[in-house]
Amino acid sequence: MLEMLREVDVLKHEKQALEILIAQLREANENLLCAKLEISHLAHHDFLTNLPNRVQLNERLTQATALAFRKQRKLAVLFLDLDRFKSINDSLGHTVGDKLLQGVAQRLRDCVRTSDTVSRQGGDEFVILLAELEHEDDAARIAEKILVALSLPFAVCEHTIYVSTSIGISVYPTDSMQADDLIKHADTAMYHAKENGRCQFEFFKPEMNLIAVERQTVEADLRAALAGEEFRLFYQPKVNLESGAITGAEALIRWRHTQRGLVEPDQFIAVAEDSGLITGIGRWVLGEACRQARIWQETGHMNGRIAVNISAVEFRQGDFVEHLRAILDDTGFDPSYLELELTESVLMNNAVATITLLTQLKALGVHLAVDDFGTGYSSLSYLKQFPIDSLKIDQSFVRDILNETDDAVIVDAVINIGASLKQRVIAEGIETSEQVSFLRSHHCEEGQGYFFSVPLEAEAFTRLLERGLEFHH
Ligand code: C2E
Ligand code: MG
Ligand code: MG
Repeated sequence: MLEMLREVDVLKHEKQALEILIAQLREANENLLCAKLEISHLAHHDFLTNLPNRVQLNERLTQATALAFRKQRKLAVLFLDLDRFKSINDSLGHTVGDKLLQGVAQRLRDCVRTSDTVSRQGGDEFVILLAELEHEDDAARIAEKILVALSLPFAVCEHTIYVSTSIGISVYPTDSMQADDLIKHADTAMYHAKENGRCQFEFFKPEMNLIAVERQTVEADLRAALAGEEFRLFYQPKVNLESGAITGAEALIRWRHTQRGLVEPDQFIAVAEDSGLITGIGRWVLGEACRQARIWQETGHMNGRIAVNISAVEFRQGDFVEHLRAILDDTGFDPSYLELELTESVLMNNAVATITLLTQLKALGVHLAVDDFGTGYSSLSYLKQFPIDSLKIDQSFVRDILNETDDAVIVDAVINIGASLKQRVIAEGIETSEQVSFLRSHHCEEGQGYFFSVPLEAEAFTRLLERGLEFHH
């Protein structure tokens, strides 16, 4: 009997021990599950913003396309890239940049429904999946909502930061039925939105793909072009609107492509900038323009200035001034006869650094002009601080000077700004004698445009310098 009782006791203990073991195992299992979930969360989310990452987006998009197929519905992919985020990061530091991205992530989340997915692809790129779409217009509406939401300033570490974004949109099934193609197409459309002036959205169109393929060929061809001396400079006269005298010339690059013939800068400058090839091209342009202008000076053909367009990428390169000095030394060209044309947006982007750079350039003795004036957003107080010699009124205003009163008012205002800042004003894109009359009566001294002459190759320009312009008013 006693023996039996003891056995029961042992069994009880064993049972307890087993129960403890089971409880421990259960806990371990739960911990493991949690760890697994955490790992899975980390693998599917972006560390900085805690948004779903690329992996998670791809999974959801694949599911969503399958569902859309079964339910015969549409869905949309929005590809976003912040405009000029790099300059914010560079100027205010990575901590500010990171906080800004978190703020952007929050606003994006607020713009969509919970059934939609906002993901971060990395850097300043976000992709949004709109899972259930009644109509394509709904995607446009959301894109607009995002543009507005992001246009409000962000307060980050005592800074007030303004950002904008460019958005590309692709739609299932119209643009593609494949998840990865939808992302690729939205990315392509985003690229176009950026090219068209940023802070806007654009739907994917099939012809955009052709252009994307073309960009790659253009880039490869550009590399060969620089080595193969396929670039040419054309020259367009700048003219005194009172006397008709040629006051100088603007050098404009052309690409004599072996198969395509003469290619205009609008077709390749952007690719050259993106690929970094613009540096080499820009140096060639400066050297060639100085070389040619020196010949015209020595032969007594021209005593005006030669103007050269400088791209944003060249201008922002740390060694731009140094290289310019070397080119001037090499060509023996008098810097006071060289004018650099910089666009308004280049100058205003990081205005403080611009002042330093412009001051260095002025110290070299070169002249400085603001190109396409009126198309960007100039701060007049900066404009006053910049050591600028001339303003070039953008041709878009000159074009409609006689029909659209707004443009006439703008042109008149620019002429007055130039007068009060003691800067020369040059009107671009003059095509008719009526435009000349208008500009003269508004005291614009100089102009440039097809009315006087199209851009000419050096030889033809030499002949133009010899005979002068036939100009009656
Ligand atoms: P931009 O500096 O504003 O040059 C003026 C553009 O207007 C030139 O186009 C010129 O041919 C064109 N143009 C001149 N008169 C008229 C006119 O009466 N009517 C019209 N509709 N257009 C006129 P182009 O040569 O195609 O150059 C386009 C742009 O490419 C230039 O604008 C400039 O920003 C850039 N570019 C040209 N050459 C170079 C270069 O060597 N380096 C860099 N970085 N950019 C360049
Ligand atoms: Mg120009
Ligand atoms: Mg211009």
